[in-house]
Amino acid sequence: MSESSYRGFEQGPIRPPSEARSLLIRVTRNCPWNRCTFCPVYKGQKYSKRPLDHVLRDIDSVFRYVEKLKTIEHLLSVPRQELLTRLSVPADELDVFASTCNFALSGMRSVFLQDANSLIIKPEELIRIVSHLRSRFPEVKRITSYARAGTVAKIDDEELKALFASGLNRIHIGMESGSDKVLKQVSKGCTKAALIEAGRRVRASGMELSYYYMPGLGGKELSSEHARESADVLNLVQPDFIRIRSLALPPGAQLTKQCMCGDFEKPGELDTCRELREFFLHLNDIPSIIRSDHILNLLIEIDGSLATERQHFIEVTNRFLELSSYDQMVFIVGRRTDRIYSLADLASPAIYRDCETACGRLGVTPENVDRITARIASRYI
Ligand code: SF4
Repeated sequence: MSESSYRGFEQGPIRPPSEARSLLIRVTRNCPWNRCTFCPVYKGQKYSKRPLDHVLRDIDSVFRYVEKLKTIEHLLSVPRQELLTRLSVPADELDVFASTCNFALSGMRSVFLQDANSLIIKPEELIRIVSHLRSRFPEVKRITSYARAGTVAKIDDEELKALFASGLNRIHIGMESGSDKVLKQVSKGCTKAALIEAGRRVRASGMELSYYYMPGLGGKELSSEHARESADVLNLVQPDFIRIRSLALPPGAQLTKQCMCGDFEKPGELDTCRELREFFLHLNDIPSIIRSDHILNLLIEIDGSLATERQHFIEVTNRFLELSSYDQMVFIVGRRTDRIYSLADLASPAIYRDCETACGRLGVTPENVDRITARIASRYI
């Protein structure tokens, strides 16, 4: 055991929105690729693999606190501060205790392996980690990880099946775009062909698959190609989930700098909505579930079964595009300031008035709405 360098329980900075209640187990640190121009998350941070015994030790620390929490009667009603005192949690174990509470109080249903690409480690080591999680927490239903398409390409089919058999049952892949031009432009480091191949192989292994699509990533110039080529990949792969995560330009990202110097033109809300409509027009009625589970998405009612609701999703985009420019502004500001949930909310006079007041206070007009709401949206990145 490499005891000497164990730094204690570790957590990475991000996880998919759908893993908010999952136990986060850090297998690697940061991103081994780290070149995507739209992504600021791990920039300046060096990738490293955590020693296997450190990861197993993290899992055992969580297990120890889970066992302690099981001894507490009426756990849900006991304040967190009182739990800290009753279980005599030392200061250097506050992180593992907080993670364990989140996991245990959410029903111990799922685990997410961090950081950006856990499948990069040797399959036999990942199998040890997943098997250890399964033996410590048999009640867990789902163990998931991010992976890059290029990494999946290096794992053979038998190894993917062995990972699934050990209990790894869902992979999240950031497709972002199916267009080779867009993928190259944003330095994604993979191709349309690799995305199709990786997706098909993950599905054939038995694991569930989430693919992420990023409306806006092609800029105004490649918007249409981005929508059509992305739909093409998804029609061929038919992932279990298609997760929409609209482009935002975070401070420090290379794409933000390109936008500021005029080398990239970010589509506004209307153009992004037109792109989304084109995306759904080119998708087939495949058996994938659309999830709009990110706060950056404007039309979060686009969420459900593609096989049965694709026409409805197209109608939602049409309804927004057919609003007057004033109502579009009211809706956009309402969404970006958490006053409005769906297009139907515009029919409520009280909500409408509240959104209009917010527009007035922020000095928003139909002409400047994209600029002002982009600033608001950057708070969520
Ligand atoms: S692979 Fe993922 S985490 Fe790494 S730079 Fe690209 S988007 Fe960011």
